[in-house]
Amino acid sequence: TISVVIVAGACGIAAGTPLAILGAIGRAAHLGAIIKGGIYLEALSRVDTLVFDKTGTLTLGRPVVVALAPEAGHSEAELLTAAAMAEGRSEHPIAQAILRCAQSRTIQPPDPDRFQSVPGRGVFALGSLGQVVAGSRSFLLEHGIEASPSGPPDQPGATEVLVALDGNWLGTIWIADTPRAEARAAMAALRAMGIRVILLSGDNPGSARSIATLLGIAEAEGALLPKDKQTRIADLKRSGARVAMVGDGVNDAPAMVEAEVGISMGSGADVAREAADVVLIGNDLTKLVDTLRVARQMRRVVLQNFTGTLVVDGIGLGLAAFGLLNPMLAAFIHVTSELVFIVNSTRMLPSRSNA
Ligand code: ADP
Ligand code: MG
Repeated sequence: TISVVIVAGACGIAAGTPLAILGAIGRAAHLGAIIKGGIYLEALSRVDTLVFDKTGTLTLGRPVVVALAPEAGHSEAELLTAAAMAEGRSEHPIAQAILRCAQSRTIQPPDPDRFQSVPGRGVFALGSLGQVVAGSRSFLLEHGIEASPSGPPDQPGATEVLVALDGNWLGTIWIADTPRAEARAAMAALRAMGIRVILLSGDNPGSARSIATLLGIAEAEGALLPKDKQTRIADLKRSGARVAMVGDGVNDAPAMVEAEVGISMGSGADVAREAADVVLIGNDLTKLVDTLRVARQMRRVVLQNFTGTLVVDGIGLGLAAFGLLNPMLAAFIHVTSELVFIVNSTRMLPSRSNA
């Protein structure tokens, strides 16, 4: 009886699991991925679908103005001044691009009296110039402004920002962003791990598709509002996928919360970093791939400890029950097996070399 009690007390699960999780979180932190809790690490280890936002996530999010296309009767300066007044208080990367362009041409936009930013759509401002609406084609349509389609410049994945003043369309500002250097390789690595990669963007479908093609992503959808991104994630979950959402913007926050794991770029908006379960401090997508590997390795270690404990305890109990194991030997098995599982878990601890 004493042998049974002693040998059954060995628990590699209780001893090894917290250590494996702690080690994996530490290792991920070394990689630059802050995981906000063990439960997210576990969820991350099961993820089979990764959904990416485009602007600021797969691209650098430091777009530049590549072309100004004022409508007949308006000047480039007029177009830029109106846009800059509206974008002055927006934290969207597009706004920064427009403001930098205005600054480089020494345009001093007036401060707006009223300002409103609609995530995933555009901005609205009221000021000394009048009422400015800047954003996507559908955003302008909502304000009753119809703009004729303008041809994109020869820049793959360029985004159009349409600008209107007092209900009149002034023209289009073309903005282009470059994909992150490591994005293509990271997407290939994810595919090799058997992960389904999807791009969901608020940007126009043409630009979403061309960035997807450039990065080797098969599934891409554009013109999505924050709510639409969230719905897509919910649909994926319903179809049985285990989804993580990677984003950087206010427009990604609802989708990040909906997903099993929300992952934010370190450079993302405050709301995005707050809504996320994992924050990629260095914005490096290869580190995201490495973090997924760490999570999967952690899961393997915990499972090894689990099955190992069951086997050792099962055999030990059997032997002890039939009087084939004396208490001394039972104690020895208890201590060694636990030690083995603890040592197995220490493999997850960050080593000095990758510190
Ligand atoms: P993504 O999903 O690719 O990160 P967003 O959802 O942030 O893109 O933006 C989607 C679209 O909404 C942009 O392509 C742009 O047309 C419009 N938009 C959003 N914010 C702004 C802004 N501050 N100024 C102008 N246009 C904007
Ligand atoms: Mg974004």
